Amino acid sequence: MSTTNFSAIADQVKLDILSKTHALENAAKRKEIARNFVSDTITVPTEEMYAYATLATLGDDVYFEPSTAALESHVAQLTGKEAGLFVPSGTASNQIALRTHLKQPPYSVLCDHRSHIHKYEAGGAAFHSGAAVIAVVPSNNHHLTLQDVKDNVILTGNIHFAPTEVVALENTLNGTIIPQDEIVAISEYAHSVGLKTHLDGARIWHVAAETSTPLKELCDPFDSVSLCFSKGLGAPVGSCLVGTKEFIAKARWFRKLFGGGMRQTGILAASAAYALSHNFPQLPRVHALTKRLEAGLEEIGAKILSRAETCMVRLFRLALCDASLNARQIFYDPSTIGVTYDEIAERGEALPESLVLGGSRLVVHIQTSDAAVDDFLATVRQLAKEKKAAGFVKPEGQVNGAVKDVYVRRGKKLAQ
Ligand SMILES: *Cc1c(COP(=O)(O)O)cnc(C)c1O
Repeated sequence: MSTTNFSAIADQVKLDILSKTHALENAAKRKEIARNFVSDTITVPTEEMYAYATLATLGDDVYFEPSTAALESHVAQLTGKEAGLFVPSGTASNQIALRTHLKQPPYSVLCDHRSHIHKYEAGGAAFHSGAAVIAVVPSNNHHLTLQDVKDNVILTGNIHFAPTEVVALENTLNGTIIPQDEIVAISEYAHSVGLKTHLDGARIWHVAAETSTPLKELCDPFDSVSLCFSKGLGAPVGSCLVGTKEFIAKARWFRKLFGGGMRQTGILAASAAYALSHNFPQLPRVHALTKRLEAGLEEIGAKILSRAETCMVRLFRLALCDASLNARQIFYDPSTIGVTYDEIAERGEALPESLVLGGSRLVVHIQTSDAAVDDFLATVRQLAKEKKAAGFVKPEGQVNGAVKDVYVRRGKKLAQ
C-alpha cells in the first residue's frame, strides 16, 4: 500500500468545472435553446429561478424536507388529491404509480400504443411490475375512446389472459388533447368494472392553459396522476405523483426501493415552485406562437397532418411533397421528390444564428423566441421558392420514398 500526504490526495480529488468562459458559454446556450425546436426538455433554469431556489429549506427528503413537502401538498391540492410525492423524473413517477397500483400478477395495463409508459420507459411496466401492456391503436387516430377501451380491456377470468387492472391515459399525448368527456366516460367505465385509472400528465399544464380547465377537473377522473416540472414548465428536475394518502404512502416506499429517495431536494422543489408561478403563465404565449408557426407553414404551402393543439406542430411537410399519416405516426420520406427534412435542418443550421431542428416534429417552448419562428418560416419559404424555380412540380397523389419513424433523422434518435 502506498501512502502520501493528504493534500496530495485532495489535489487528485478536486475539480473545478467552471471554465474561464463559462458565462459566455451559458449565454450562448440560452441563445441556442431559444432557437431549438426539437423538444421542450431542453428548457433551462433561468438565473431568477436559481436565485429563488437557493433560498429553499435544507431538510433531508428521505425524512422530511419542508420546501419539498410544501410543493407536494400544493400540487395535491391543485389536482384535488389527498397527497403528493416529489420524484426525480416522469418515468419514475409513472413506474412507481404502476407498481403501487399493481399487486399480484398476472395483470395488464391498457394504454394508447403511442404512450410514453408503453414506448419510452424501457419496458418498465414489465420490468418493475411484471405487467403485460395492452397497447391500443385509437380507432379515430387521435385519442382513445370509451369504445376502444371496452374493445381491448381484459376482464375475463379465463386463465389464458392477463386481466387488465389499470387504464393509463396520457394528456397531452404528442401535444394533442383528449376530450375531457371521453376521459370521464373511460374513467367511469373503468371504475365500474373495478379497474384503476392513471394519468400521465407530464404536459397536463398545457391542457389547462389551452382549454382554461382547472387542473382539479382534469385530474378528477383519475386515481393517480403524474405531472412533470422539467418539460414545458422549465424546471431542471422533477415530477410529482398525486393520489390518495394511502397510495402515496406506498408509492413513497417504492420510490425508496427504486433508488429515488433524494436528500436535500429543497433547491429542486423551489425551482419547481418557481416554474409554477412564473413559467406556467407563459404557456398561452407558447401556444399562440405554435399556431403562428403552423399558419405560416400552411401559407407557404406545407401540409399540416396533425394540428397544433398545444405546443407541437407535428408531421408537417411541404405540400409539394405529398404526404400521409397513419396511426403509427410514420411518414413518407420526401427525399426522392426534392425536399428533405435534412435540407431544411441544414439550411437552418447554416443561418448566422443556427436553428436546431429535429425532422418532422416541431416543438415550441417557453424559451422559444419569436425571431426563431420567423427565421424558420423564412427558411422553409426560401427553400420552397428554390425548388419551384428549379422546376419542381407537385406529384399527383403519389407515394414516394421510404417509411421512417418520426423521431429519426440522420439515423439519430431524438429526445422525447
Ligand atoms: C418526458 C415524458 C415522461 C417521462 O419524463 P422523464 O422525466 O423524461 O422521465 C413521461 N410521460 C410523458 C408524456 C413525457 O413526455
